[in-house]
Amino acid sequence: ESPKKRKISEDISTSGEGYANVVASHYNQIEEKGLQERSKSRIVFLRNFHNWIKSMLINEYLSKIKLKKKYNAPLRVLDIGCGKGGDLLKWKKANITHLICSDIAAVSLEQCKNRYSDMKERSARDRNGGNLYTIEYISADCSRVRLREKYSDPSVKLDIVSCQFAFHYSFESLPQAECMLRNVGECLQAGGYFIGTIPDANDLVARAKRENSNTYGNDVYKVLLDFDVNKPPLFGAKYNFYLDGVVDCPEFLVHFPTFIKLAKKYGLKLVKKEKFYDFFNTMKREGSKLLSNMSSLETYPPFPQCTMVGSAEDDYVHAERFLS
Ligand code: SAM
Repeated sequence: ESPKKRKISEDISTSGEGYANVVASHYNQIEEKGLQERSKSRIVFLRNFHNWIKSMLINEYLSKIKLKKKYNAPLRVLDIGCGKGGDLLKWKKANITHLICSDIAAVSLEQCKNRYSDMKERSARDRNGGNLYTIEYISADCSRVRLREKYSDPSVKLDIVSCQFAFHYSFESLPQAECMLRNVGECLQAGGYFIGTIPDANDLVARAKRENSNTYGNDVYKVLLDFDVNKPPLFGAKYNFYLDGVVDCPEFLVHFPTFIKLAKKYGLKLVKKEKFYDFFNTMKREGSKLLSNMSSLETYPPFPQCTMVGSAEDDYVHAERFLS
């Protein structure tokens, strides 16, 4: 870390705002590239792989919800950390009714709005395109703001809360992780699902120990752990993650046992936790058609990640008791 960078980090950590602005401005300044540009990227296979994982995860849990619901009953979803709307089409294919998109990066959210408008235009032109869900946007730090007070009808409970590659930012501090999980718990209806994808904290630390270095990677990705790997804190275990022109910002380890405990406090019970590799192996037969549509998968991601799924228990309202 350069002295200038370190000075900025010190200022941030004492400002009370944490790294929210750093994360938001990082995502805000990422250029929106068209499909053609994106397909030339060095990480195109990794991107395709992530999209495939997310599609399978969404389909798996929406199918479960559909089985529990009456035919044609509305399906409502909250996407926390939706970014530029990379999953908008997945939600269309999944035939949902309403989507609430939220993100801390206002520019990304604007790009998400544009993508939705384009999709809507295309849908209107295509007579066989089916109905497109309605949408609303919340520009907010979801680890500090109560989302239910922000959306159009707070009395409505949602079927799925999805948080793809974003939940780990909340593990900067206990109050932020709690706020995030409270948002999930109180937005979901009983029987609803929380689905997400996060980096695998154990693997990130194990690799640093194996290599006897706080930093590792190659010219496509780099990880720099900014804490004592022999004594990582439960919250605020910061590392910098760089991925070929897409990500270069501070992230935080998610200590999974702590995540499970906190999620329980907000009415969520763990249903499944799986590494991408295992998820891929169980789902590849079902998803092979989708995978071939997304072009071939040649490389396995060079860094570890896992999926996590929570489900709202009937007594999630009791989570209110813990709130100050
Ligand atoms: N979910 C999208 C996807 O899968 O393509 C975007 C993932 S991107 C790696 C992480 C996103 O999380 C960014 O858009 C970032 O702005 C958002 N994010 C980070 N911290 C957040 C917070 N506290 N509240 C809301 N969004 C946040």
